[in-house]
Amino acid sequence: MTTTRTLADATTMRVGGEVADWIEATTRDEVVAAYEAALADDFEPHLVLGGGSNTVASSEPFEGTVIRVATTGIRALPHAERPHRPAGEEPPADDSVVLRVEAGESWDALVERTVAEGLAGLEALSGIPGSVGAAPIQNIGAYGQELASSLLGVELLTMGDDRALEVRHVPGAALQLGYRDSALKRGTLTGVVLSVDLRLRRSADGRGQPVAYQQLASALGVELGTRVPLADVRETVLALRRSKGMVLSDDPDSVSAGSFFTNPIVSARFASSLPADAPRWSVAPQPVAAVLPLDAAPEVPSLARPVPQVKLSAAWLIEHSGIERGFSLPGSRAAISSKHTLALTNRGGATGEEIAELARFVQARVENQFGVHLVPEPVLVGLTL
Ligand SMILES: Cc1cc2nc3c(=O)[nH]c(=O)nc-3n(C[C@H](O)[C@H](O)[C@H](O)COP(=O)(O)OP(=O)(O)OC[C@H]3O[C@@H](n4cnc5c(N)ncnc54)[C@H](O)[C@@H]3O)c2cc1C
Repeated sequence: MTTTRTLADATTMRVGGEVADWIEATTRDEVVAAYEAALADDFEPHLVLGGGSNTVASSEPFEGTVIRVATTGIRALPHAERPHRPAGEEPPADDSVVLRVEAGESWDALVERTVAEGLAGLEALSGIPGSVGAAPIQNIGAYGQELASSLLGVELLTMGDDRALEVRHVPGAALQLGYRDSALKRGTLTGVVLSVDLRLRRSADGRGQPVAYQQLASALGVELGTRVPLADVRETVLALRRSKGMVLSDDPDSVSAGSFFTNPIVSARFASSLPADAPRWSVAPQPVAAVLPLDAAPEVPSLARPVPQVKLSAAWLIEHSGIERGFSLPGSRAAISSKHTLALTNRGGATGEEIAELARFVQARVENQFGVHLVPEPVLVGLTL
């Protein structure tokens, strides 16, 4: 007897329709075979899935193949086997450890293990749900840490120039990781992440990286920049996350995809038009292209001119556009989390379409009030905002 699988069963938002063809790939060979078969069929869509914690799908049937990557294995790479070393780089200091982690491993179980083993670099990323293979897709980040600072590279199953599948070692720089973004998320690079290489530091004193997030520093009772025992960072991050419904649990507020919108990045000039109490943080200036006359000398230096930019708080913008915690549209089973405005939640039996409807409402309110367009963070399947 074949059982029907739904995307609702496999995603943390618990929305999504029946899947025509479901493949649970527990070995690399199974991933390769499933991906090869999926690419061979030009007419049916396919979806690579890990823990389903950043995927929000339509409740209509998915008429294609879902490949759930469930491969396991964690291995420390000896120096001789470490790829992705930039040319000319000195041999790594003795306190560095490179772990190759198979894509289907649980991200948080990995963090727990590294903290227990005294390895620094991932401790503030405690409690993020999902798989290791999905972590580079949006360069996961929280509480002052980002995957980018530990990621050496990935093994990617991808189509080669001869249109045959090959496994390529892709260095971190080639993934173009940015704030909740990567070449894989944008689709300029495609394939299945088979494994992730992480460079961590063996901490001689059991302390983590300097604390880089004010809320975490305050909860730990230390100044920003202090190095704190790894286990304390993990416990404090988990407690903070629980208070916001941001760890998977029986808390109804955790039936979500985490933050539904990214924090918008706008020019400092635009930000100055917002109310003075709107939180903002400086980010590295982005170069913008300038239009030059055709006869301009090629060495004209003003081609790219950095524009000062700031990151705004999406949660603040939502709250100040008049949307309160717990808000829902009349008759809808989708609601804003009762703990913070950035998470959209399924209060029981909601459809993907109800989630999308609420998301559009939030976008419209913020756009009308502040002229800022909020961009969704999760991957939408069969839904548009
Ligand atoms: C309660 C909660 C809290 C969260 N908090 C945070 C947070 O603090 N910071 C943060 O950054 N994110 C957060 N998230 C979002 C989410 O946990 C991360 O984005 C996570 O990395 C998604 O992993 P996943 O395996 O569940 O991805 P999925 O939802 O399964 O997939 C997400 C995307 O990655 C692709 N993908 C998955 N696996 C692979 C693979 N092996 N190869 C290629 N593509 C793949 C999928 O096709 C899809 O496009 C949170 C989510 C929830 C529900």
